[in-house]
Formats: sequence, C-alpha cells, structure tokens
Amino acid sequence: MSVQTPTIKITKTSNSKLSSVDFDNLPFGKHFADHMVEIDYADGKWGEATIVPFANLSLHPATSALHYGQAIFEGLKAQKGVDGDILVFRPDMNAKRFNESAKRMSMAEIPEAIFLESLKVLLDLDKNWVPTGEDQSLYIRPFMIATDDYVGIRPSEKYKFLIICSPVGGYYTDPVPVKIETEFTRAAEGGVGRAKAAGNYAASLYPAKLAAEQGYRQLIWTDAKTHTLIEEAGTMNVVFVINDIIITPSEEKDTILKGITKRSILQVAQDWGYKIEEREVTIVEVIEALKNGTMQDAFGAGTAATIAPISLIGYNGVNYDLPAIETRTFSNKLKAYMTDYKKGKVEDKFNWLMRV
Ligand SMILES: *Cc1c(COP(=O)(O)O)cnc(C)c1O
Repeated sequence: MSVQTPTIKITKTSNSKLSSVDFDNLPFGKHFADHMVEIDYADGKWGEATIVPFANLSLHPATSALHYGQAIFEGLKAQKGVDGDILVFRPDMNAKRFNESAKRMSMAEIPEAIFLESLKVLLDLDKNWVPTGEDQSLYIRPFMIATDDYVGIRPSEKYKFLIICSPVGGYYTDPVPVKIETEFTRAAEGGVGRAKAAGNYAASLYPAKLAAEQGYRQLIWTDAKTHTLIEEAGTMNVVFVINDIIITPSEEKDTILKGITKRSILQVAQDWGYKIEEREVTIVEVIEALKNGTMQDAFGAGTAATIAPISLIGYNGVNYDLPAIETRTFSNKLKAYMTDYKKGKVEDKFNWLMRV
C-alpha cells in the first residue's frame, strides 16, 4: 500500500523578521516565525495545504468561532538536536488528540498525515527560527477555528486550520505556589474538559486571577461535583510523589486532559522501576502527606514547562510547604532526562522524536 504524501503549496516571505528578534531574550509566545500553515475546509473536504508568510487573518464579523467558540488548539515543541537536525517531540500524539478535540466540538477532523506533513515542511522552511539555547525551543501552535459567516447556532460547515510557531525561552523559572480550588470548576463530567477547546482557558482566567490576588501562581482544580478530588494543575497535569510512589489522577474521567508530557513521564518512570498509581487522588490524602512529611515531590506536567515544580500548596487559607527543590530526586532526574531526550542527547528509546 502506498501512502500518499499530501502536496503543499509554499509561498515564501520576502521580508524575514528573523534578524529583528533578540534570541538571547525570548519571552513566551511574543515572536512568531516567518511562515504559517493554512488549510481551509469547505464542502465536506480539506482544500490545498498551503504555507504562507505569517500574516493577519481577514475574518467576516459573523465568523462562527468568534460567537460560539468552535475553536481548538494544540501545543508542542521542536528543538535543535545535537546533530543539527530539528527534533519534534511526539507530534503524532498531538495530531491524534487534535482530532479528538475536533470530534467533541463537532468540528472537521484533519487527516493526521496532513497535520504532520505540513508541520514538517513548515519547520524545514523556518528551521532558523528554532533556537539553540539551553532552555529554548520552538513552540508550535496548531489550531482550528470555525469560519462560517453565519450568526446561527449549528456546527460550522467551514473551518480554517493553521500552524504558527514561536521561539521561546524557559517557561517557569521558579517553583510555583498553587491553590487548591474548591469553588470554581475547570471541567465537569460530560463536558469538554478533555478537549483542548479555547473556551476552557477563558473560563479558567477569572478563578486564576482571584488566586493570583492571594499570591498563588496556579490553581489545582478539583472535581465539579464534590470538590474533594484532585484533577489538574492549571493548564498542566499534576503528579505527586508520596512515599516513593508516583501518584497522579487517572484519566478515566473526561474532566482530565490527556497530557502527552504526563504520559511520557509515566512511561519513563515505569522504565526506571518506580511504582506508579493512576487513580482518584483526594485532597485529604494530599494534605495528610504534606502534614506528615511523606510528600516528597509535586509538579505540573505539560509541554510549555515540561516540569513545573510546586513550591507550596494552599488549601482553605493554610499554606503547606513542599520539600526544597534540591531534595526532589524524581523531578530533578526526570527534568534532566526529558531535556536531554528532546535534544537528542540520549537514545530515542521510546521512538518519540520526529526528525526534520
Ligand atoms: C495541554 C494541557 C495539558 C498538558 O498536555 P501536554 O500534552 O502534556 O502538553 C494538561 N492539561 C490541560 C488542561 C491542557 O490544556
């Protein structure tokens, strides 16, 4: 069987912005690479895959994504490998998850081959945008919006798929103080919490702002029904190490986003011989472990930060400190390994890297 490679039409920019960017000082998500992927869906099918100069979109004011929120995205990273190749971490997983999000939001699904091939060609064209510094990478943002110019509520018949890229530095520098949220909810069972739907992030901003006023940098979300079970940390999955056991909320419930970072970390931990428990995690046991000193480590896991260590956990107005960062054997070892892995400094033993 032959797999057909999608053809991609490329229009190159005549006005590269590359030299205007200070690569020694890269804030997150502020600078964008010269080109973007743009593919439109209409009449029940995807049109020609194109790569065009990065530019503003022109949208009809009735564009349905702007009114009813059919909008989804992905986030992944590319690094310059030690051998000079560009390495992308598990893009096939992002392509799959993108379509799961699309399905939940009644949007058109895009063939994985088009997602991956257009990304590859884009990265090849903009390879000089992949930064080489220690903590730096090229953040890749595929997304899709509904583009019917119709103010009526129904699934759109037209969609626009885009991929833009942004060279970035490290995400969090310091360990983050987090608050266990027991009033507001990120996701309810039967809702859209498992999808990377744009509206989920809008809904989290207000509770996050209130927590920020109390000095917390992130929220730990709890279940909508009882607010007694831990679900996620901000826009990351959450992982605890209690009594040498890696403990994380199970993804069985559709309120938890299936993180690729977390899935990868668990596979590594298993390979290293750690005991892992994916199950319901209660606030009670977390607080108990913080009080009796068995909580050794806690961190958020996600593409942007890879591992974001938690410095303290606030619950009901009381702050509980976590052990000093230097003592956190698991996350320190993991962070070093994952960093090396993504740069191709260690063997790609799980077959996770796409080379460009
Ligand atoms: C994207 C995301 C994550 C992390 O997923 P990764 O694939 O590891 O980047 C976790 N939780 C939420 C809510 C997210 O949006």
